[in-house]
Amino acid sequence: MNQALWSTSTINAAPSGLSSGEVAEILKLVAEDFAPFDVNVTNDRSVYDSTPSNKRVMCISTPTDTASPGSGGVAFLDTFVDDLVCWDFNLSGDTISHEVGHTLNLDHHGDSSQNAPEYHDGHASESRDWGPIMGSAFEASMVQWSDGNYTSATNNNQDDLDLITNYGLSYRADDYGNDSATGENVSISNMPATRYGIIERSTDIDVFNVTYSSLGKVQISGFGREGAQSNLDVNMSILDADGIIIYTQTSDTSDDAITELILEPGSYQIRVQGDSSGNPNGNPATGWSSYGSLGQYQLNFLPDPPSFSDAIEQYNTITLTGDANWVAQTGTSYDGVDAVESGSVFAGESSRFSISKQTTSVSFWYKVSSESNYDFFEFYIDGSRRLRTSGEVGWTQFNDNSLSNTTHTFEWRYTKDNYVDSGSDKAWVDKVVFDQNGGYQEWSSTNSASDGGTDDSLMAMVSSIWSNT
Ligand SMILES: [Zn+2]
Repeated sequence: MNQALWSTSTINAAPSGLSSGEVAEILKLVAEDFAPFDVNVTNDRSVYDSTPSNKRVMCISTPTDTASPGSGGVAFLDTFVDDLVCWDFNLSGDTISHEVGHTLNLDHHGDSSQNAPEYHDGHASESRDWGPIMGSAFEASMVQWSDGNYTSATNNNQDDLDLITNYGLSYRADDYGNDSATGENVSISNMPATRYGIIERSTDIDVFNVTYSSLGKVQISGFGREGAQSNLDVNMSILDADGIIIYTQTSDTSDDAITELILEPGSYQIRVQGDSSGNPNGNPATGWSSYGSLGQYQLNFLPDPPSFSDAIEQYNTITLTGDANWVAQTGTSYDGVDAVESGSVFAGESSRFSISKQTTSVSFWYKVSSESNYDFFEFYIDGSRRLRTSGEVGWTQFNDNSLSNTTHTFEWRYTKDNYVDSGSDKAWVDKVVFDQNGGYQEWSSTNSASDGGTDDSLMAMVSSIWSNT
């Protein structure tokens, strides 16, 4: 490297010694800092070389600190257009962004209450330490562009984003519109679907419209396409079809929070924007304003119809028979989550499901709403009817724990004898439980160890390799 402003003689910068993985992490971090802007962050020399010389800057990561001995990095102010390199001796993405910031005419953000007031070294939030890129908060997990809006700021007139864009970098074009009309429609026929987005400006709101016909799921995380932690403190709100906010999520509690939300069937508007945290103007300062909450996020849309097995908490093979299938649903349940509901049947028809299982007991909860004495909910064990009920029956538990330890067939039926409909004309079943020991060989004293002691009972579980010699 031979640039006279740095040295009158050639600087032979040693390689960084970083692994390719470490280099990738550094590039991701710098790319996230510059995500709001229409720029490439690359270590591909051909991309750099093909960019006009007044629209590029190179930051050299090297332990060779000849350009500024003893420092962590160095740059000349206001040199982005001059094709002059800057230096990162810390071998750190934070330092690269900071030095490139200088080339874009940014000065430091300091803290007059600190021993070294030139650089603000960060302050706490509920969970994440915050610092300005133009400070020295190397340990903070939220390091953002700043407008000096925090207690004891030394440079509270410096608006980083204004300076950067005035210098010539443009904001990236908005990727998703700010309202329902200009937002992205996400179709449930193509789920699961992932949308990567960027909040480019503190006024940006990315809007997604989705209509779920059954239960749906939305997940958001402050990670971008490459999986780097975002500068964006995500605020996601969900509005119902009437435009009422039914949920607002802020991710202040964790760096890598992935929030997952299950939605009832219906139409929703999902809004993503930058958030603030704590009170940066408090004493002491905590958190950050939404000013620098810019960057990448990932939004996943998933269908989430309850499965039959989930609905009755029973994962043995389930056989559906009769004239209409029982279905999993969330409208009526004993556990407040989901249950199965009999299919719609006509006179003389039935809706049935069955499970075969080796067990010594069976229990489940049921509810019935039918015409008394004509339409019945029934339960059979090995073909013999054990329960028959009709009319309005609230959640009731059936329990039999005296079965022989062999394989039994359990069948649940809803049957109609009559044309007259009454009530909901349905039955529901929830929380089917079998004896947990069913199907296992019982402990036997022929293994010549006692099953009383703690150690021996553990041994019993692996009796094939157990030895008492
Ligand atoms: Zn500096």
